[in-house]
Amino acid sequence: MNITPTQITQPRLEIRNLIRRFEGKAVVDDVSLSILPGHVTCLLGPSGCGKSTTLRMIAGVDMQDSGQIYVDGQLICDTQFRVPPERRSIGLMFQDFALFPHLSVGDNVAFGLSGTKAEKRKRVTELLERVGLLHFIDDYPHELSGGEQQRVALARALAPRPRVMLMDEPFSGLDNRLRDGIRDETLALLKEEGTSVLLVTHEPEEAMRMADEIALMRGGRIVQKGAPYNIYKSPADKEAVAFFSDIN
Ligand code: ADP
Ligand code: MG
Repeated sequence: MNITPTQITQPRLEIRNLIRRFEGKAVVDDVSLSILPGHVTCLLGPSGCGKSTTLRMIAGVDMQDSGQIYVDGQLICDTQFRVPPERRSIGLMFQDFALFPHLSVGDNVAFGLSGTKAEKRKRVTELLERVGLLHFIDDYPHELSGGEQQRVALARALAPRPRVMLMDEPFSGLDNRLRDGIRDETLALLKEEGTSVLLVTHEPEEAMRMADEIALMRGGRIVQKGAPYNIYKSPADKEAVAFFSDIN
């Protein structure tokens, strides 16, 4: 096998110097990040710090004022050039990104798939089996519990094998009792699929549990980046210490 150093180190997703202003105020203020293939990076920060806005620009549903976005080293968006959202190979999972109520569970998972009927069926079956919900394939979303719907949404997002998965507070609508289990299951499946993930959360505990790398965000800027343990042990400043103080 021929692997060059660039292939080893090339990030799956890279964003450079992203800026987004609303009414003259930079809510995303010079944010740069990269995610290696198969890694989970958590963008962690308090409510209103610019996390969702960052994700929306990467997804292509909002446009930056400056900065660039690359997937596998290829430019997908700058201020002059823009690959449309559906051609970015980016999967989305948002808290309020609900399943299509009028489609069966199987058709929800098949929604973004191309290929023959048999190929689609194979991928849908494989994923539903993997999340333990194959028996619901012909049922409708309202017949499932919140946690089950969440697992179907994950299967739907992963089905087309996106190069990058963006997750915006995907577990915040779930009951506390279910949340840890679903976090662990989700992480296991993401790792099996080898998906690179940018997961947004305001909960330090979630980032500590799921991330390979944490990017700590505040007031539109990344204030610290690193392995979860290092950030937890050596927060960059007093505000970071305070932010982490409710985990023990
Ligand atoms: P987070 O996801 O970290 O909670 P957001 O990215 O949603 O933060 O928002 C960051 C800031 O940008 C907030 O102050 C929010 O009010 C503001 N903002 C977000 N979207 C818009 C918009 N479309 N117009 C004006 N202000 C916005
Ligand atoms: Mg948000």
